[in-house]
Amino acid sequence: MANNKAAPSGGSILVVGGGISGLTTTLEAAEVGYEVFLIEKNPYLGGRVSQLKQYFPKLCPPTCGLEINFRRLKDNPNINVFTMAEVEKVEGTPGNYNVSIKLKPRYVNENCTCCGECASACKTEILNEFNFNMDKHKGAYLPHEMAFPSRYVISPQIIGSEDARLCKDACKYDAVDLDMSEKTIQISVGAIVWATGWEPYDAGKIDNLGFGKYKNIITNMMLERLASDNGLTKGKILRPSDDKEPQSIAFVQCAGSRDENHLPYCSYICCMASLKHATYIRAQYPDAKIYIFYIDLRTPGYRYEKFYKKIKEDKNTFFVKGKVAEVMEESGSGNITVVAENAVTGEKIRQTVDMAVLATGMQPTALDSKLPADLNYNEDGFIINDFEKGGMFAAGCANKTADVVSSNQNATGMALKAIQTLVRR
Ligand SMILES: Cc1cc2nc3c(=O)[nH]c(=O)nc-3n(C[C@H](O)[C@H](O)[C@H](O)COP(=O)(O)OP(=O)(O)OC[C@H]3O[C@@H](n4cnc5c(N)ncnc54)[C@H](O)[C@@H]3O)c2cc1C
Ligand code: SF4
Ligand code: SF4
Repeated sequence: MANNKAAPSGGSILVVGGGISGLTTTLEAAEVGYEVFLIEKNPYLGGRVSQLKQYFPKLCPPTCGLEINFRRLKDNPNINVFTMAEVEKVEGTPGNYNVSIKLKPRYVNENCTCCGECASACKTEILNEFNFNMDKHKGAYLPHEMAFPSRYVISPQIIGSEDARLCKDACKYDAVDLDMSEKTIQISVGAIVWATGWEPYDAGKIDNLGFGKYKNIITNMMLERLASDNGLTKGKILRPSDDKEPQSIAFVQCAGSRDENHLPYCSYICCMASLKHATYIRAQYPDAKIYIFYIDLRTPGYRYEKFYKKIKEDKNTFFVKGKVAEVMEESGSGNITVVAENAVTGEKIRQTVDMAVLATGMQPTALDSKLPADLNYNEDGFIINDFEKGGMFAAGCANKTADVVSSNQNATGMALKAIQTLVRR
Protein backbone atom coordinates (compact mmCIF):
# COMPACT_ATOMS: atom_id res chain seq x y z
CA MET A 1 0.00 0.00 0.00
CA ALA A 2 1.29 3.48 -0.82
CA ASN A 3 1.65 6.22 1.76
CA ASN A 4 -1.47 8.36 1.57
CA LYS A 5 -1.94 10.78 4.43
CA ALA A 6 -5.31 11.96 3.01
CA ALA A 7 -7.02 8.59 3.59
CA PRO A 8 -9.91 8.59 6.10
CA SER A 9 -8.88 8.08 9.72
CA GLY A 10 -12.00 7.22 11.68
CA GLY A 11 -10.12 6.04 14.78
CA SER A 12 -7.00 4.14 15.68
CA ILE A 13 -5.87 0.53 15.52
CA LEU A 14 -3.99 -1.44 18.17
CA VAL A 15 -1.64 -4.17 16.97
CA VAL A 16 -0.44 -6.57 19.66
CA GLY A 17 2.84 -8.33 18.80
CA GLY A 18 5.74 -6.88 16.83
CA GLY A 19 6.75 -9.99 14.86
CA ILE A 20 6.65 -10.05 11.09
CA SER A 21 2.81 -10.28 11.11
CA GLY A 22 2.28 -7.40 13.53
CA LEU A 23 4.79 -5.25 11.64
CA THR A 24 2.99 -5.93 8.38
CA THR A 25 -0.46 -5.10 9.77
CA THR A 26 0.92 -1.93 11.36
CA LEU A 27 2.61 -0.67 8.22
CA GLU A 28 -0.25 -1.51 5.87
CA ALA A 29 -2.76 0.36 8.05
CA ALA A 30 -0.47 3.30 8.88
CA GLU A 31 0.61 3.84 5.30
CA VAL A 32 -2.96 4.54 4.22
CA GLY A 33 -3.32 7.11 6.96
CA TYR A 34 -4.55 5.30 10.09
CA GLU A 35 -3.02 5.86 13.50
CA VAL A 36 -1.60 2.59 14.83
CA PHE A 37 -0.36 1.63 18.29
CA LEU A 38 2.05 -1.30 18.05
CA ILE A 39 2.89 -3.00 21.30
CA GLU A 40 5.48 -5.73 21.82
CA LYS A 41 6.31 -7.58 25.04
CA ASN A 42 10.01 -8.07 24.20
CA PRO A 43 12.48 -5.16 24.32
CA TYR A 44 12.88 -5.49 20.51
CA LEU A 45 10.68 -5.96 17.43
CA GLY A 46 10.93 -8.71 14.81
CA GLY A 47 9.62 -11.71 16.74
CA ARG A 48 10.87 -15.20 15.92
CA VAL A 49 12.10 -14.21 12.47
CA SER A 50 14.88 -12.18 14.08
CA GLN A 51 16.22 -15.42 15.61
CA LEU A 52 16.62 -17.15 12.23
CA LYS A 53 19.88 -17.31 10.28
CA GLN A 54 18.15 -17.14 6.91
CA TYR A 55 14.67 -17.55 5.58
CA PHE A 56 13.53 -20.07 3.02
CA PRO A 57 12.98 -20.26 0.16
CA LYS A 58 15.35 -17.47 -0.93
CA LEU A 59 17.76 -17.97 1.99
CA CYS A 60 18.24 -14.29 2.63
CA PRO A 61 19.10 -13.11 6.16
CA PRO A 62 16.11 -11.90 8.21
CA THR A 63 17.69 -8.45 8.46
CA CYS A 64 16.95 -7.74 4.80
CA GLY A 65 13.19 -8.04 5.33
CA LEU A 66 13.06 -6.66 8.85
CA GLU A 67 15.27 -3.63 8.30
CA ILE A 68 13.11 -2.29 5.49
CA ASN A 69 10.10 -2.60 7.79
CA PHE A 70 11.92 -0.85 10.63
CA ARG A 71 12.83 2.02 8.31
CA ARG A 72 9.20 2.34 7.15
CA LEU A 73 8.14 2.28 10.79
CA LYS A 74 10.59 5.03 11.81
CA ASP A 75 9.53 7.24 8.90
CA ASN A 76 5.81 7.01 9.63
CA PRO A 77 4.35 9.54 12.09
CA ASN A 78 1.10 7.53 12.31
CA ILE A 79 2.83 4.75 14.25
CA ASN A 80 3.35 4.67 18.03
CA VAL A 81 5.58 1.82 19.16
CA PHE A 82 5.78 0.52 22.73
CA THR A 83 8.22 -2.28 23.54
CA MET A 84 8.20 -4.19 26.85
CA ALA A 85 4.44 -3.66 26.74
CA GLU A 86 1.47 -5.97 27.26
CA VAL A 87 -2.28 -5.54 27.22
CA GLU A 88 -3.75 -5.65 30.70
CA LYS A 89 -7.44 -5.11 29.94
CA VAL A 90 -9.73 -4.54 26.96
CA GLU A 91 -13.20 -3.06 27.41
CA GLY A 92 -15.77 -1.95 24.86
CA THR A 93 -17.16 -3.06 21.54
CA PRO A 94 -16.06 -3.03 17.87
CA GLY A 95 -15.21 0.54 16.88
CA ASN A 96 -14.82 1.64 20.47
CA TYR A 97 -12.33 -0.14 22.72
CA ASN A 98 -10.60 1.17 25.82
CA VAL A 99 -7.35 -0.65 26.42
CA SER A 100 -5.03 -0.63 29.44
CA ILE A 101 -1.41 -1.34 28.57
CA LYS A 102 1.26 -2.23 31.08
CA LEU A 103 4.75 -0.88 30.30
CA LYS A 104 7.73 -2.52 31.96
CA PRO A 105 10.80 -0.39 32.70
CA ARG A 106 13.83 -0.75 30.41
CA TYR A 107 15.94 1.39 32.78
CA VAL A 108 17.63 2.91 29.72
CA ASN A 109 16.32 6.02 27.97
CA GLU A 110 16.59 7.31 24.40
CA ASN A 111 20.02 8.88 25.05
CA CYS A 112 21.53 5.39 24.64
CA THR A 113 24.20 5.25 21.91
CA CYS A 114 24.78 1.49 22.27
CA CYS A 115 28.38 2.13 23.34
CA GLY A 116 28.27 -0.98 25.56
CA GLU A 117 30.12 0.57 28.53
CA CYS A 118 27.35 -0.44 30.94
CA ALA A 119 27.70 -4.08 29.90
CA SER A 120 31.49 -3.93 30.35
CA ALA A 121 31.03 -2.54 33.86
CA CYS A 122 28.37 -5.08 34.84
CA LYS A 123 29.58 -8.27 36.53
CA THR A 124 26.37 -10.28 36.67
CA GLU A 125 25.67 -12.71 33.85
CA ILE A 126 22.21 -14.01 33.09
CA LEU A 127 20.88 -16.67 30.72
CA ASN A 128 20.40 -15.43 27.18
CA GLU A 129 16.81 -16.23 26.18
CA PHE A 130 17.37 -15.00 22.64
CA ASN A 131 19.87 -17.89 22.23
CA PHE A 132 17.57 -20.35 24.04
CA ASN A 133 19.73 -20.17 27.18
CA MET A 134 22.73 -21.73 25.42
CA ASP A 135 24.91 -18.85 26.64
CA LYS A 136 24.74 -15.87 28.97
CA HIS A 137 24.76 -12.11 28.62
CA LYS A 138 25.49 -9.33 31.05
CA GLY A 139 22.82 -7.80 33.28
CA ALA A 140 23.02 -4.75 30.97
CA TYR A 141 22.62 -5.94 27.41
CA LEU A 142 21.47 -5.37 23.85
CA PRO A 143 19.07 -8.25 23.07
CA HIS A 144 20.92 -8.92 19.80
CA GLU A 145 23.20 -7.06 17.40
CA MET A 146 20.46 -5.91 15.03
CA ALA A 147 17.90 -5.16 17.76
CA PHE A 148 15.32 -2.48 16.97
CA PRO A 149 14.98 -0.17 18.79
CA SER A 150 18.74 -0.29 19.16
CA ARG A 151 18.85 0.50 22.83
CA TYR A 152 20.32 -1.41 25.79
CA VAL A 153 18.21 -2.96 28.53
CA ILE A 154 19.03 -3.32 32.20
CA SER A 155 17.68 -6.59 33.53
CA PRO A 156 15.32 -6.33 36.53
CA GLN A 157 17.51 -9.08 38.04
CA ILE A 158 20.24 -6.53 38.85
CA ILE A 159 18.03 -3.63 39.93
CA GLY A 160 18.86 -2.64 43.48
CA SER A 161 22.30 -4.29 43.32
CA GLU A 162 25.79 -2.82 43.26
CA ASP A 163 25.95 -3.86 39.60
CA ALA A 164 23.11 -1.53 38.67
CA ARG A 165 25.04 1.36 40.17
CA LEU A 166 28.17 0.32 38.23
CA CYS A 167 26.13 0.39 35.00
CA LYS A 168 24.81 3.86 35.78
CA ASP A 169 28.27 5.18 36.66
CA ALA A 170 29.72 3.74 33.45
CA CYS A 171 27.25 5.56 31.20
CA LYS A 172 28.59 8.87 29.86
CA TYR A 173 25.32 9.77 28.16
CA ASP A 174 22.98 9.85 31.15
CA ALA A 175 21.03 7.02 29.52
CA VAL A 176 20.71 4.71 32.54
CA ASP A 177 17.64 5.64 34.59
CA LEU A 178 17.29 3.31 37.56
CA ASP A 179 14.22 5.18 38.80
CA MET A 180 12.07 4.03 35.90
CA SER A 181 9.10 2.00 37.11
CA GLU A 182 6.24 -0.03 35.70
CA LYS A 183 3.32 2.06 34.49
CA THR A 184 -0.06 1.61 32.89
CA ILE A 185 -1.35 3.71 30.01
CA GLN A 186 -4.86 3.88 28.54
CA ILE A 187 -5.61 4.14 24.84
CA SER A 188 -8.84 4.26 22.81
CA VAL A 189 -8.91 2.35 19.55
CA GLY A 190 -11.54 1.18 17.10
CA ALA A 191 -10.01 -2.20 16.23
CA ILE A 192 -7.42 -4.61 17.59
CA VAL A 193 -5.22 -7.05 15.69
CA TRP A 194 -3.67 -9.79 17.79
CA ALA A 195 -0.38 -10.88 16.19
CA THR A 196 0.98 -12.69 19.21
CA GLY A 197 2.61 -15.48 17.20
CA TRP A 198 4.03 -18.76 18.37
CA GLU A 199 6.47 -20.43 20.73
CA PRO A 200 8.60 -23.49 20.06
CA TYR A 201 6.92 -26.59 21.47
CA ASP A 202 8.69 -27.60 24.69
CA ALA A 203 10.83 -30.54 23.51
CA GLY A 204 11.43 -31.56 27.13
CA LYS A 205 7.83 -32.85 27.17
CA ILE A 206 8.66 -35.53 24.56
CA ASP A 207 10.14 -38.18 26.84
CA ASN A 208 11.53 -40.56 24.21
CA LEU A 209 13.52 -37.95 22.28
CA GLY A 210 16.11 -37.20 24.97
CA PHE A 211 15.96 -33.41 24.90
CA GLY A 212 17.17 -31.85 28.14
CA LYS A 213 18.91 -35.12 29.10
CA TYR A 214 21.66 -35.03 26.49
CA LYS A 215 23.47 -31.89 25.38
CA ASN A 216 23.93 -33.00 21.78
CA ILE A 217 20.19 -33.22 21.15
CA ILE A 218 19.01 -29.74 20.29
CA THR A 219 15.92 -28.21 18.66
CA ASN A 220 15.56 -26.64 15.23
CA MET A 221 15.33 -23.12 16.71
CA MET A 222 18.52 -23.75 18.72
CA LEU A 223 20.22 -24.71 15.46
CA GLU A 224 19.11 -21.37 13.99
CA ARG A 225 20.94 -19.60 16.83
CA LEU A 226 24.03 -21.81 16.47
CA ALA A 227 24.16 -21.10 12.74
CA SER A 228 23.45 -17.36 12.95
CA ASP A 229 26.37 -14.98 12.52
CA ASN A 230 25.13 -13.00 15.54
CA GLY A 231 24.68 -16.18 17.59
CA LEU A 232 26.72 -17.72 20.39
CA THR A 233 29.27 -19.41 18.09
CA LYS A 234 29.35 -16.56 15.55
CA GLY A 235 27.64 -18.80 13.04
CA LYS A 236 29.81 -21.89 13.36
CA ILE A 237 27.73 -25.02 13.88
CA LEU A 238 29.48 -26.86 16.70
CA ARG A 239 28.43 -29.78 18.82
CA PRO A 240 27.27 -28.36 22.17
CA SER A 241 29.04 -30.86 24.49
CA ASP A 242 32.59 -30.40 23.17
CA ASP A 243 32.55 -27.84 20.32
CA LYS A 244 33.42 -30.61 17.85
CA GLU A 245 32.71 -29.89 14.17
CA PRO A 246 29.90 -32.37 13.51
CA GLN A 247 30.39 -34.79 10.64
CA SER A 248 26.97 -36.37 10.94
CA ILE A 249 23.66 -34.86 12.00
CA ALA A 250 20.21 -36.43 12.25
CA PHE A 251 16.94 -34.51 12.01
CA VAL A 252 13.84 -35.89 13.71
CA GLN A 253 10.76 -34.56 11.93
CA CYS A 254 7.34 -34.11 13.56
CA ALA A 255 9.04 -33.94 16.99
CA GLY A 256 5.91 -33.51 19.08
CA SER A 257 3.76 -32.51 16.09
CA ARG A 258 0.96 -34.63 14.60
CA ASP A 259 0.82 -36.45 17.91
CA GLU A 260 -2.30 -36.50 20.08
CA ASN A 261 -0.11 -36.43 23.20
CA HIS A 262 1.58 -33.20 22.15
CA LEU A 263 0.58 -30.99 19.20
CA PRO A 264 -2.08 -32.84 17.20
CA TYR A 265 -1.60 -30.69 14.10
CA CYS A 266 1.08 -30.30 11.41
CA SER A 267 3.22 -27.23 12.10
CA TYR A 268 3.52 -26.50 8.37
CA ILE A 269 7.09 -25.17 8.34
CA CYS A 270 9.33 -27.73 10.09
CA CYS A 271 9.95 -29.91 7.03
CA MET A 272 11.07 -26.83 5.12
CA ALA A 273 13.09 -25.66 8.14
CA SER A 274 15.06 -28.95 8.24
CA LEU A 275 15.69 -28.80 4.49
CA LYS A 276 16.96 -25.27 4.99
CA HIS A 277 19.11 -26.50 7.88
CA ALA A 278 20.66 -29.07 5.54
CA THR A 279 21.89 -26.11 3.45
CA TYR A 280 23.39 -24.45 6.56
CA ILE A 281 25.30 -27.66 7.36
CA ARG A 282 26.39 -28.24 3.81
CA ALA A 283 27.79 -24.71 3.53
CA GLN A 284 30.11 -25.40 6.50
CA TYR A 285 30.78 -29.12 6.21
CA PRO A 286 30.89 -30.26 2.57
CA ASP A 287 31.14 -33.97 3.45
CA ALA A 288 28.97 -34.20 6.56
CA LYS A 289 26.27 -36.87 6.48
CA ILE A 290 22.74 -35.61 7.05
CA TYR A 291 19.93 -38.01 7.98
CA ILE A 292 16.35 -36.76 7.88
CA PHE A 293 13.87 -39.08 9.62
CA TYR A 294 10.33 -38.24 8.56
CA ILE A 295 6.79 -39.58 8.54
CA ASP A 296 5.69 -37.45 5.56
CA LEU A 297 7.63 -34.60 4.04
CA ARG A 298 5.43 -31.57 3.59
CA THR A 299 6.77 -28.93 1.22
CA PRO A 300 3.62 -27.18 -0.03
CA GLY A 301 3.63 -25.30 -3.34
CA TYR A 302 5.93 -25.15 -6.33
CA ARG A 303 8.81 -23.20 -4.76
CA TYR A 304 9.03 -25.37 -1.66
CA GLU A 305 8.85 -28.57 -3.70
CA LYS A 306 11.68 -27.25 -5.87
CA PHE A 307 13.71 -26.52 -2.72
CA TYR A 308 13.16 -30.13 -1.56
CA LYS A 309 14.18 -31.57 -4.94
CA LYS A 310 17.44 -29.62 -4.82
CA ILE A 311 18.35 -30.99 -1.38
CA LYS A 312 17.42 -34.51 -2.54
CA GLU A 313 20.18 -34.33 -5.15
CA ASP A 314 22.77 -34.05 -2.37
CA LYS A 315 24.49 -37.45 -2.18
CA ASN A 316 25.25 -37.11 1.51
CA THR A 317 21.72 -36.27 2.58
CA PHE A 318 19.65 -39.35 3.39
CA PHE A 319 15.88 -39.30 3.75
CA VAL A 320 14.55 -42.10 5.94
CA LYS A 321 10.80 -42.62 6.06
CA GLY A 322 10.03 -43.87 9.55
CA LYS A 323 8.77 -42.71 12.90
CA VAL A 324 11.55 -42.24 15.43
CA ALA A 325 11.03 -44.37 18.54
CA GLU A 326 13.92 -43.11 20.61
CA VAL A 327 16.89 -40.75 20.61
CA MET A 328 19.65 -41.38 23.15
CA GLU A 329 23.27 -40.77 23.95
CA GLU A 330 26.01 -43.38 23.57
CA SER A 331 27.79 -43.31 26.89
CA GLY A 332 31.24 -41.78 26.89
CA SER A 333 31.40 -40.37 23.36
CA GLY A 334 28.53 -37.89 23.48
CA ASN A 335 27.36 -39.39 20.18
CA ILE A 336 23.64 -39.73 19.62
CA THR A 337 21.75 -42.78 18.37
CA VAL A 338 18.42 -42.44 16.63
CA VAL A 339 16.23 -45.54 16.68
CA ALA A 340 13.45 -45.79 14.09
CA GLU A 341 11.54 -48.29 12.03
CA ASN A 342 11.95 -47.87 8.29
CA ALA A 343 8.36 -47.59 6.99
CA VAL A 344 9.39 -48.79 3.54
CA THR A 345 11.49 -51.89 4.38
CA GLY A 346 10.13 -52.59 7.86
CA GLU A 347 13.66 -52.94 9.27
CA LYS A 348 14.70 -51.41 12.57
CA ILE A 349 17.33 -48.70 12.15
CA ARG A 350 19.89 -47.50 14.67
CA GLN A 351 21.77 -44.53 13.27
CA THR A 352 24.57 -43.07 15.36
CA VAL A 353 25.49 -39.45 14.65
CA ASP A 354 27.47 -36.61 16.22
CA MET A 355 24.35 -34.64 17.08
CA ALA A 356 20.59 -34.64 16.56
CA VAL A 357 18.12 -31.86 15.85
CA LEU A 358 14.48 -32.19 16.85
CA ALA A 359 12.22 -30.47 14.34
CA THR A 360 9.77 -29.16 16.92
CA GLY A 361 6.65 -27.35 15.88
CA MET A 362 4.84 -24.15 16.67
CA GLN A 363 2.49 -23.71 19.59
CA PRO A 364 0.37 -20.54 19.69
CA THR A 365 1.66 -18.09 22.31
CA ALA A 366 -1.90 -17.59 23.51
CA LEU A 367 -2.24 -21.27 24.52
CA ASP A 368 -0.47 -20.89 27.85
CA SER A 369 -1.10 -17.20 28.45
CA LYS A 370 -4.67 -16.38 27.44
CA LEU A 371 -5.11 -12.83 26.24
CA PRO A 372 -7.18 -10.39 28.34
CA ALA A 373 -9.91 -9.93 25.75
CA ASP A 374 -13.11 -11.61 24.61
CA LEU A 375 -11.59 -13.90 21.97
CA ASN A 376 -12.48 -17.37 20.74
CA TYR A 377 -9.82 -20.05 20.48
CA ASN A 378 -9.80 -23.40 18.76
CA GLU A 379 -8.90 -26.53 20.74
CA ASP A 380 -5.20 -26.03 19.99
CA GLY A 381 -5.12 -22.44 21.26
CA PHE A 382 -5.12 -20.58 17.93
CA ILE A 383 -7.39 -17.53 17.88
CA ILE A 384 -10.47 -17.97 15.69
CA ASN A 385 -11.37 -14.96 13.59
CA ASP A 386 -15.01 -14.08 14.08
CA PHE A 387 -15.64 -11.79 11.11
CA GLU A 388 -19.37 -11.48 11.93
CA LYS A 389 -18.57 -9.91 15.27
CA GLY A 390 -15.56 -8.01 13.94
CA GLY A 391 -13.47 -5.49 15.85
CA MET A 392 -10.75 -7.90 16.95
CA PHE A 393 -8.78 -10.11 14.59
CA ALA A 394 -5.86 -12.52 14.74
CA ALA A 395 -3.01 -12.29 12.23
CA GLY A 396 -0.17 -14.66 11.30
CA CYS A 397 0.73 -17.54 13.62
CA ALA A 398 -1.65 -16.35 16.33
CA ASN A 399 -4.32 -17.62 13.94
CA LYS A 400 -2.62 -20.68 12.38
CA THR A 401 0.78 -22.23 11.73
CA ALA A 402 2.34 -20.42 8.80
CA ASP A 403 5.52 -19.40 7.02
CA VAL A 404 6.53 -15.76 6.60
CA VAL A 405 4.89 -15.30 3.20
CA SER A 406 1.52 -16.62 4.39
CA SER A 407 1.82 -14.68 7.66
CA ASN A 408 2.35 -11.48 5.70
CA GLN A 409 -0.58 -12.15 3.39
CA ASN A 410 -2.82 -12.86 6.33
CA ALA A 411 -1.55 -9.80 8.24
CA THR A 412 -2.29 -7.55 5.26
CA GLY A 413 -5.83 -8.95 5.14
CA MET A 414 -6.27 -8.24 8.85
CA ALA A 415 -5.13 -4.62 8.37
CA LEU A 416 -7.99 -4.30 5.90
CA LYS A 417 -10.45 -5.93 8.31
CA ALA A 418 -9.37 -3.50 11.06
CA ILE A 419 -9.80 -0.55 8.71
CA GLN A 420 -13.27 -1.79 7.70
CA THR A 421 -14.26 -1.78 11.39
CA LEU A 422 -13.27 1.89 11.67
CA VAL A 423 -14.94 2.93 8.43
CA ARG A 424 -18.23 1.17 9.29
CA ARG A 425 -18.44 2.69 12.73
C1 LIG B 1 12.85 -23.70 13.06
C2 LIG B 1 11.99 -22.74 12.30
C3 LIG B 1 12.52 -22.13 11.18
C4 LIG B 1 11.71 -21.28 10.41
N1 LIG B 1 12.24 -20.77 9.25
C5 LIG B 1 11.43 -20.09 8.42
C6 LIG B 1 11.90 -19.68 7.14
O1 LIG B 1 13.08 -19.90 6.80
N2 LIG B 1 11.03 -19.05 6.29
C7 LIG B 1 9.72 -18.80 6.65
O2 LIG B 1 8.96 -18.27 5.82
N3 LIG B 1 9.25 -19.14 7.89
C8 LIG B 1 10.07 -19.78 8.76
N4 LIG B 1 9.60 -20.14 10.00
C9 LIG B 1 8.25 -19.68 10.41
C10 LIG B 1 8.31 -18.21 10.93
O3 LIG B 1 9.11 -18.17 12.08
C11 LIG B 1 6.88 -17.70 11.21
O4 LIG B 1 6.15 -17.72 10.00
C12 LIG B 1 6.88 -16.26 11.75
O5 LIG B 1 7.62 -16.18 12.94
C13 LIG B 1 5.44 -15.79 12.01
O6 LIG B 1 5.47 -14.48 12.49
P1 LIG B 1 4.40 -13.91 13.56
O7 LIG B 1 4.63 -12.44 13.60
O8 LIG B 1 3.05 -14.41 13.23
O9 LIG B 1 4.80 -14.56 14.94
P2 LIG B 1 6.16 -14.32 15.92
O10 LIG B 1 7.35 -14.32 15.06
O11 LIG B 1 5.99 -15.34 16.94
O12 LIG B 1 5.90 -12.86 16.49
C14 LIG B 1 4.95 -12.63 17.50
C15 LIG B 1 5.40 -11.44 18.34
O13 LIG B 1 4.38 -11.13 19.29
C16 LIG B 1 4.98 -10.89 20.56
N5 LIG B 1 3.97 -11.20 21.59
C17 LIG B 1 3.48 -12.42 21.93
N6 LIG B 1 2.54 -12.30 22.88
C18 LIG B 1 2.44 -10.98 23.17
C19 LIG B 1 1.63 -10.22 24.07
N7 LIG B 1 0.74 -10.81 24.86
N8 LIG B 1 1.79 -8.88 24.11
C20 LIG B 1 2.72 -8.26 23.31
N9 LIG B 1 3.51 -8.94 22.43
C21 LIG B 1 3.36 -10.26 22.35
C22 LIG B 1 6.17 -11.84 20.58
O14 LIG B 1 7.13 -11.42 21.55
C23 LIG B 1 6.67 -11.71 19.14
O15 LIG B 1 7.55 -10.64 18.98
C24 LIG B 1 10.38 -20.99 10.80
C25 LIG B 1 9.87 -21.57 11.97
C26 LIG B 1 10.66 -22.46 12.70
C27 LIG B 1 10.07 -23.18 13.88
S1 SF4 C 1 23.04 2.76 28.46
FE1 SF4 C 1 24.77 4.20 28.35
S2 SF4 C 1 26.57 2.91 28.66
FE2 SF4 C 1 24.91 1.54 28.18
S3 SF4 C 1 25.08 1.26 25.97
FE3 SF4 C 1 23.63 2.94 26.31
S4 SF4 C 1 24.85 4.79 26.20
FE4 SF4 C 1 26.30 3.11 26.46
S1 SF4 D 1 5.83 -29.65 8.59
FE1 SF4 D 1 6.77 -31.69 8.40
S2 SF4 D 1 7.87 -32.01 10.36
FE2 SF4 D 1 6.44 -30.32 10.68
S3 SF4 D 1 4.64 -31.31 11.56
FE3 SF4 D 1 4.28 -31.12 9.33
S4 SF4 D 1 4.99 -33.06 8.48
FE4 SF4 D 1 5.82 -32.92 10.57
